[in-house]
Parts: sequence; structure tokens; C-alpha cells
Amino acid sequence: MKNLFKFLSIVFLLPSVISFAQSKDSLMVAAIIKEANENSQLKNIAHELFDDIGPRLVGTPKMQQAHDWAVSKYTSWGITARNEKWGEWRGWERGVSQIDMVQPWIKTLEGTQLAWCPSTGGKSITAELIILADVADSLAFIQWLPNVKGKFVMISMMQPTGRPDYNWTEFGTKESVEKMKKERTEQTDAWRKRISKTGLSNKNLALALEKAGAAGIVGSNWSAGFGVNKIFGASTTKIPTIDIALEDYGLLYRLLESGKNPKISVRTDSKELGMVPTFNTIAEIKGTEKPDEYVMLSAHFDSWDGATGATDNGTGTLVMMETMRILKILYPNPKRTILVGHWGSEEQGLNGSRAFVEDHPDIVKNMQVLFNQDNGTGRVVNIGGAGFLHSYDYLGRWLARVPSGYKQELETRFPGSPAGGGSDNASFVAAGVPAIGLGSNTWLYFSYTWHTNRDTYDKIVFDDVRNNAILTAILVYIASEDPDKASREKIILPANQRTGEPGKWPEQRSPTRKGGVD
Ligand SMILES: [Zn+2]
Repeated sequence: MKNLFKFLSIVFLLPSVISFAQSKDSLMVAAIIKEANENSQLKNIAHELFDDIGPRLVGTPKMQQAHDWAVSKYTSWGITARNEKWGEWRGWERGVSQIDMVQPWIKTLEGTQLAWCPSTGGKSITAELIILADVADSLAFIQWLPNVKGKFVMISMMQPTGRPDYNWTEFGTKESVEKMKKERTEQTDAWRKRISKTGLSNKNLALALEKAGAAGIVGSNWSAGFGVNKIFGASTTKIPTIDIALEDYGLLYRLLESGKNPKISVRTDSKELGMVPTFNTIAEIKGTEKPDEYVMLSAHFDSWDGATGATDNGTGTLVMMETMRILKILYPNPKRTILVGHWGSEEQGLNGSRAFVEDHPDIVKNMQVLFNQDNGTGRVVNIGGAGFLHSYDYLGRWLARVPSGYKQELETRFPGSPAGGGSDNASFVAAGVPAIGLGSNTWLYFSYTWHTNRDTYDKIVFDDVRNNAILTAILVYIASEDPDKASREKIILPANQRTGEPGKWPEQRSPTRKGGVD
């Protein structure tokens, strides 16, 4: 009798317990949406980080400034934050780049020095140009090398068109589009052979030209959109390495080929700062019931420095900071500890996140889940289970609590496959953590903003970023409240199609702790 009563009371109580939990969750979800919409800090954070501080290249004073800013921002929101040193890097500070054509007529050119470019010592260097010759082999290259003395060497192919393919497709005839693509492919192959016939890697080619007395290296790394070039790092140690926009590069190239003997004047200012410490910024909201279990947010903080890194990975940074701000207000005593990692030096090989994984095995072991975002400003439209066998059980359950407006376009893949690289979730997946990439729609990310000179504030789509902060805050809340720990059981990976060997889970790798010195 007593037992029956107990049984009945469980049966009758259960639905009300569930509906109490559900209504508690729906209240929280509604509060998150309200806070994100009515008190959004996204534009303020974006202005302070991208306009006031600017690019965040590893080893630069601006990277350090950004880490310090992040700690003080979190502190102002009442969130505990710290900068964790994990290594050191060659310190360098970007100064002005002035690039002008001074012959046969005068035009200020659109271009910039690459990261880690040597300084021209406060002076401009004025010199003629020469195009990297199409030599027969490495011996012929050595014979040709003395020709570069005192000249700027053009090492990139001249693009046949500055119009992106989508523009050709919209307005060109089918025949002209096909002809352009065919010619460009042939030209691109020929240029690749031209480089490989020197027998040198890109880096060693630059060093050989420097050693032979070149005045500087001039490239143009077009990013396949109107006005966009990718800006990476220099290999030279004494002479400047600059990138010139497609339009101006083509102008110089054609003038040179037609014998008009163009000259350019180049000044690059920069400072070498010796080895400097590198950091991750970590912030946390301490858990109450399970303080030693963690739900982690993740977005790399560093960028390349051709622009301000507004979408790589400024927008991922905005999402995670805004999520933390909202949760601190609405969910200040979470069940599990909520952490965020703003990683240093992702761009040179996921270094900050790899260091965190290596330095904090205790946290990594007890991590419920990690959410990383790193592919631009767009709405999250892709989520996968990262190769964890039961990921559908928990991620599916968590996503079910997200209102439909925030997941209309979402495509899910379960169990998905483990990220081997690409962004910081890979560092955690390698250590067995369900580390989930929040995949955005592209807004032409890879051509227009990723590592380009146009990755700036104006490319941010704030409605989409706010959408992502809401989605992320809800997922973190639900994951933290989940009575169960997320399973880490892995799928059996399919065999390697080429070798037939069994598929292998990505291995945990050590970071570069002393960078920029090889
Ligand atoms: Zn990135």
C-alpha cells in the first residue's frame, strides 16, 4: 500500500516537475532574448576593439592592448577575467606604409607592408621594377639573380581581370566567361611553374632576392573580389615586402612590360621589439552545484593586420563576450562553471588553444561541451556533432529548447566528424572534448574579409551577430543545467579511402611556445 502510494505520487508528480523545469527554461530563454535585443553591447564592443584598438597580430603591442582591454571589460561587467601567459613571440609594431608611383606619372598606390616587414629606416626607397623572370631551371635562376640588384622585384602574376567571377557570370556571355577562366587557369599554372623552376620555396625565394641586393619585394595576393587582397607576413629581414592592390599592380606590370620604365617610391616604418610574452584571455562565471565541470565558450582573439580583423575573428569574439555579459546578468550562479577562452595566435597554428589544452588537463577532462565560432559575421546555419557517437542525444535535446526563429536555417550533422584543424575547436576535439563549431553562413567571407585588407567594422552584420549571441547564450545555459554529463564516446571513423587504413582520431598537438624566430 505504502509502495503503491509512492509509485502513484511519482507518476503524478513527474509531469509537473518537467513542466516546472520547462517553464523555468522558457523564462530564461525569453529573458536572454530580451536582454540581447534591448541592451545589446555589440556595437560598443566592436567600436572599442576594431576602431579604437585595431588589428591584433601576435607579438604586437595592439594584441597586448586588446588582452588588457578584454580583462577590464569583463571586470566592468563583474566577471572574473585574467590573461594567461602561454609563450612568447617575436615582437613587432607596424608603422606607416607609403607607396607611390613616381614615374612615368605620379600616383599614390593602394598597398601596404606585410606583417613583420623590415623598416626602411625613416626614408623612402625609390627604384625601378623588375618582373621575376621565367627561367629554365634553378641554375638559370642563379644566373639571372644579379639583375634584381637595386630593383623592386614583382613576384606575383598579373591577374587578367579584377572582376570577381560572380560579376562575370551575371553580365558576361557564356563564351567570354569560359574563355576568361580558361586563360586565367593557364596563366596561373604557368606562374606556379615559374616560381617552382627557381627551385625555391616562396620564403627562400624572397631571401635569395634580398641577398642578391633587391630594393624590395612587391606582390599582389588577390582575394577574388572587388578591391580585396590578402595580407600575410614578410620573410625578408632587411628589405621591405609590400602588397599592392590588383589594380595598381596591373598598372605597374603593364607599364613595365611596354617599356615605360615605371619607378616606385616605398617607405615602410616598423619596430622590432624583441621577444614578448603571449597570452590567452580567460574569463569565468563560477558554477555552484558542479563548479568543477565546465561549459566553455571559445573564439580566437588574434587577427592578421591588413585590416582590423572585424570578422576574423572579431565577430566570434563579439558573440562570446556578449554571451558572457548576458549570462552574468541573468544566470550569475550557473550549475556548472562557464568559461570563455579568447585565444592568442590561432592564425599561426591554434597556438593559444593548444596551450590551454596542454596546461589545463583538469579543466579539459571535466568539460561538458565547448562552443567555438570562427567563420565570420553570418547567422549560425551549421552545427555538427564533431564525431561523438551520442552527440545527437544531448545537442539535439539542447537545440530543441532554442526558439524556432533562431534555428530556421540550421542544418545539423550527427554524429558529424572531428575537426582536425581550421579553428580552435580542433584543439579540444583532439583531447576528447565535445567541441562544437558554430558554423555561420558566409557573406562571401573567404573572398571578401578572411585575412584581407577589407576585414573592417562596416562588414559586420549586427543582426546576425546578435542572433548568434542569443543562440549561444541559450545553448550554454541549457548545457550547464543539463542533469547529465555529455557523453564523450567517439564514433569509429571510416577507413582512409586512399590507404585503406583505419580512420584515426586527430591527435593532440603541442603549441609553438616560442614563435616568429625560425
Ligand atoms: Zn579565424
